Amino acid sequence: MEYQDKTIVCNDCGADFTFTSGEQEFYAEKGFDNEPKKCKDCRQKAKRNFSRPSNGGGGNRQSRPFNRTR
Ligand SMILES: [Zn+2]
Repeated sequence: MEYQDKTIVCNDCGADFTFTSGEQEFYAEKGFDNEPKKCKDCRQKAKRNFSRPSNGGGGNRQSRPFNRTR
């Protein structure tokens, strides 16, 4: 099966982005059925927000579980 680059409109910011054939292949390989709804920028932003919830700032002294010096 051949993939072709596809232009998708980002659900978030409304910008066009390209869902490349390579990415489509990658998605298919991973078994993802659906196409990305957001451009890379927005996906990255979402990821950052997810891993770093803003919590007012300050008093962030928890020691992290993976805190080994390497
Ligand atoms: Zn976007």
